Amino acid sequence: MLRLSPLALLLATTPVLAQEINVYSHRQPELIQPLVDAFTKETGITVNVAFVDKGMAERLVAEGDRSPADLVLTVDIARLMQIVDADVTQAVQSDVLDANIPAALRDPNDHWFGLTSRARVVYASKDRVKPGEITTYEDLASDKWKGRLCTRSGLHDYNIALLGAIIVHHDEAYATKWAEGLKANLAKKPDGGDRDQAKAIAAGECDIALGNTYYMGQMLADPEQKAWADAVSIVYPTFESGGTHLNISGVAMTKSAPNRENALKFMEWLTSDEAQKIYAETNYEFPVKPGVERSELVKSWGEFTPDTTPLAAIAAARATALKIMETVDFDG
Ligand code: FE
Repeated sequence: MLRLSPLALLLATTPVLAQEINVYSHRQPELIQPLVDAFTKETGITVNVAFVDKGMAERLVAEGDRSPADLVLTVDIARLMQIVDADVTQAVQSDVLDANIPAALRDPNDHWFGLTSRARVVYASKDRVKPGEITTYEDLASDKWKGRLCTRSGLHDYNIALLGAIIVHHDEAYATKWAEGLKANLAKKPDGGDRDQAKAIAAGECDIALGNTYYMGQMLADPEQKAWADAVSIVYPTFESGGTHLNISGVAMTKSAPNRENALKFMEWLTSDEAQKIYAETNYEFPVKPGVERSELVKSWGEFTPDTTPLAAIAAARATALKIMETVDFDG
């Protein structure tokens, strides 16, 4: 008969007792930690987070069935769909997720789920841009902004998604002209992140910039960056025939998830009032769960009408958008 020492017995039974899940995250460590801590405190389930900066889909494909990852957290609809398209995710049926996330912000096939949304807006110089001077995305290409516009790389996912929405609202030819117009208006070569554009406005290098809403909150909370945010106001532009462009951060469960049950618990918890409030207060994002309010600061930037272009259509326009940015040599 096989005899096990107490230690061997403990080791042999540990996997059954282990309450942990593994998350591959493209999101910043500082943002995820408060959520992880609160979840672990409530459930006793440990969440191991590995930060994956680049090549998420490739890594999951390479790891295959042996991947330790249960969940993927990332920003941008196209990145989420790339992971789904790589066939490394599984469908998740959950009444909780269905109830907490509006249908437009989750995959009809249940592979990806939006957890927060954010608007891509215009940061406008408080000194040099009058209220009402810029109201549409289309107008960013008008030559009245010549030499006055700043943005991060045209190839960045956030700008590719915005251009994708322009393609959906108009067509490829219009979108190409628009990208050309934007390039012609640049005060300097695209560089840095969204916050660097507010910094450039504060320094007088440009008057308007593209930026995501939550970076305003991050700048205001950082003594070194507060002056950049103070130099600009947020303008929620709309498409001529639509609303303000939104993108999401979201989650997907891997196909091989070794800890499926607890991973689902975490997914559902991320859509709870408590987690949605953490997203709203600590990262200034828009909660997806109906009834959970934006932070007071975010609300102070005013109301807006979200654009209704389906996220899947924006992601589907990604290849064309990338081609346009390369054709017009946007960053060159
Ligand atoms: Fe970001």
